[in-house]
Amino acid sequence: METEKKDADYLSGIVGPSFRQGLKCGLQKNSFIDYPGKISCVLFLSGCNFNCPYCHNPELAKGYAEFPHSMKESKLYDFLEKHRGFLDGVVISGGEPTLQKDLFWLCEKIKSMGYPVKMDTNGSRPRVIASLIDKKLVDYVAMDIKTDPLHYSPLIKKDCDPNDILSSIRIIMESGLPYEFKTTCIKPLVDEQVVEKISHLIDGAMLYVLQQFRKTEVLHPEFFRKDMYNYSDDELAHLRDIAAVQVGKCIVR
Ligand code: SF4
Repeated sequence: METEKKDADYLSGIVGPSFRQGLKCGLQKNSFIDYPGKISCVLFLSGCNFNCPYCHNPELAKGYAEFPHSMKESKLYDFLEKHRGFLDGVVISGGEPTLQKDLFWLCEKIKSMGYPVKMDTNGSRPRVIASLIDKKLVDYVAMDIKTDPLHYSPLIKKDCDPNDILSSIRIIMESGLPYEFKTTCIKPLVDEQVVEKISHLIDGAMLYVLQQFRKTEVLHPEFFRKDMYNYSDDELAHLRDIAAVQVGKCIVR
């Protein structure tokens, strides 16, 4: 009984670490917003190669998840088995999932249980994205585009190769899968020129999401000392109008 209670606790929010050797993660047991059109659970894999000041998952991004519990691999599959009929998709998020050596194996296992997989990525590892798509291990890809790919360095990532970001965009748009691109709108990383540039890079994209920044716990609070980083609703609507000229559909979320 005690064990069952513990397991329920593990699955009731963001938990971790490691449920398989070398793989640290947390699990959100249900979400109505993370996988379009589906009720999903969300796996947060620990570790990221980016350093976004506004990151809402600092522990996961830094790669040392300070969670009190660990979850065995079998618990995840028990959970998915038990919630068959309620959940109809699994989101693999992060951190940055494409850094995980177990990612292919994980996607294979989840898909073998009949669940479609959505992957969130920062687009830094195009070859991994291409391989997952080729092997039919993902069904939906959501990629963040942080700012103009020429200007990721140094704030988002030291020595970021813009070609990696551009390759990921191309691979995703040519995949034949449903996808979305997303930009968190925060000054001065994102402005009218940046949105226009990104919109041209993803010309004709299925869906481009401009995301309102909400200040909670962030990776680099020192970045937010001046209270000038937020966009108003009207300003976001203006950015959406700029992007809507190029992309198939642009929304503010
Ligand atoms: S926002 Fe995403 S890409 Fe940026 S540091 Fe956090 S987990 Fe990594």
